[in-house]
Amino acid sequence: TSSHKHERRPAAQEEQLNEEVKRFEELFTLTPERLKHITDRFVTVLKDGLDAPGKTVPMLPAYVFGWPTGNEEGRVQPPALSYLALDLGGTNLRVCHVVLKGKGKFEITQTKFRLTDEQKQMDGQKLFDFCAECLHTFINDHFGGGEGEEPILEEDIALGFTFSYPMEQDAIDHGKLVRWTKGFGNPNTEGKDCAAMFRKSLESQKVPIKMTSIINDTTGTLIASNYVKQDTKIACIFGTGCNAAYMEHIKNIPKIGHYNLPGDEDMAINCEYGAFDSFEHKHMAEIRTKYDEHIDLHSNKPHEQSYEKMIAGLYLGEIFRLCLCDLIDEGTLFLGQNTYKLEKTNVFDTAFMSLILVDPTDELLTCAGLFLHFFGLETTQEERNFFKKLAYMIGLRAARLSACGIAALVTKMGYLEEGCGVGADGSLYSKFPKFPENLHKALEDIFGEKGKGIVTHQAEDGSGVGSAIIAAMTLKRKEEGKY
Ligand code: BGC
Ligand code: MG
Repeated sequence: TSSHKHERRPAAQEEQLNEEVKRFEELFTLTPERLKHITDRFVTVLKDGLDAPGKTVPMLPAYVFGWPTGNEEGRVQPPALSYLALDLGGTNLRVCHVVLKGKGKFEITQTKFRLTDEQKQMDGQKLFDFCAECLHTFINDHFGGGEGEEPILEEDIALGFTFSYPMEQDAIDHGKLVRWTKGFGNPNTEGKDCAAMFRKSLESQKVPIKMTSIINDTTGTLIASNYVKQDTKIACIFGTGCNAAYMEHIKNIPKIGHYNLPGDEDMAINCEYGAFDSFEHKHMAEIRTKYDEHIDLHSNKPHEQSYEKMIAGLYLGEIFRLCLCDLIDEGTLFLGQNTYKLEKTNVFDTAFMSLILVDPTDELLTCAGLFLHFFGLETTQEERNFFKKLAYMIGLRAARLSACGIAALVTKMGYLEEGCGVGADGSLYSKFPKFPENLHKALEDIFGEKGKGIVTHQAEDGSGVGSAIIAAMTLKRKEEGKY
């Protein structure tokens, strides 16, 4: 075609964009020294969180005691004992039915419901009502008798609720929301017991199910991954948000000393380390860019979840978009075109970056199609090459920063000598090109050769399977008369 847009002096633009690449490289590159520095500070912050309640990285006791044996299972005699799990993540609501078969084996049936933006802001009780409704629908669809009949489900089936936000717990079936994250802002929920709120919704919606546990997605992932792979000591989520959980010796959690828990046992800790560097932003001051600052200040929770905002799927696309907006203002990109569609907040999904990065064609046709289709913009080859480099840099920074949190936990727990498995899940980890590779490389940058012993692997479904195993572990503890 001979559209005039394609006749812009490509050599000049190429030169300009090469300069921009250098500029962004300076902003987004993290040297091994930087990573080590951040990791050191991170270790201190993790320890602080265990010492006293209410710290920025709160290190929340999860009331899941010790590792699963791998033999947790439902009764095999009919009616088979199975578990229901409800997963309120950042993007979807998922209902699962899980049958544990022992020996690390399981079967799972599930349905997903995508959450709307309104649902993330409506009154908290209404959100839980919606959860109860979806559960009801699922039960009727999968276990409903014929018309007019009662659903066929085991009596007393246990429901595990995976609620992936920071909660303060003092028992496995209780969880007070510390603060919403991931763009949620439902009023009348922060500071309240979300387990109780959800129970209320189950009652008012007449869903005949008992909720036995409320857990974080990282805790579920920790238990599910260890159930099938026993060298797993840490679990991480790199998805819409980011966070990790691990198993701590109770005697090393000073802040719950007074609870009179058995000091010789272990308990899972939900770190909530997406909050690293929040509020004062002093631990990562050297690497915070104006784009990070912008995203933070324009979010519904300014100054919170600072580490998460540089890493997680909810934000990477927006960082990318803000970079492009800068170059539009400078007159470097999309000359002569109307860019208004691209200049709206949050219109550039992180998944678009993945698409750009996996584009197999030299012309980067997927990238061209994407800009044309979603934003009505034509692109030059030079622009597309630049987008690919920029997407890579932003993803690389996220993966390398992600390594710092893991490295801090490894350091704190002394796992480096023996090495350990890290169960990882979430859309970034499973879908963003090279994310796991870049994370591993960063672990080596931090630890040298020994970093090779810290191996992340795709985790088992923590919110479904993990939740079921935890329900089984909880029932067993109750039978034994333990807390
Ligand atoms: C939440 C965590 C959660 C993580 C991953 C964060 O925003 O605060 O509780 O584990 O996202 O879903
Ligand atoms: Mg999830």
